Amino acid sequence: MPTKEYKDLLLKQKLRILKSLGQLEETTENNLRGNASDTVGVPTHIAELGSDAVEKDLEINLTSSESNILQLIEEALKKIDLKKYGICENCNKSIPVKRLKAIPYTKYCIECQNKMEKKENFV
Ligand SMILES: [Zn+2]
Repeated sequence: MPTKEYKDLLLKQKLRILKSLGQLEETTENNLRGNASDTVGVPTHIAELGSDAVEKDLEINLTSSESNILQLIEEALKKIDLKKYGICENCNKSIPVKRLKAIPYTKYCIECQNKMEKKENFV
C-alpha cells in the first residue's frame, strides 16, 4: 500500500476524532445545564462538589484517550514526511501492512506492543 493511502487513513481518523471531541464538548455543556435544574432543593455546596468531581473525571478519561490518538496520528503524519513511517520505534523492524491498516497510527510492531503492555500490567 503506498504511503499516500496511509496518509489518507490517518487524516480521516484525525477528522473523525476532532469531530467527536467537538460533540463531546456539546454534550458536556448540556449536562451542566441539566444538572443546574436538578440541584434545586439540594444544599448547593454538596451538589457542586459531587457533580464537579464526577464530570471532571469523565471528561479527562474520555478526552485523554482521544487526544492521545490524535497525538499519535500527528506523529505518524510527520513520519510519513520523513519517510520513516511503518518502522517500529523499539526494534526498527517494519511493521506488518496488516497492522498498519488496522491501526495506522501505531508506533510499534505487534511483538513490541505486547511486551510493553505486559510491562504496564506488572507496574
Ligand atoms: Zn518492534
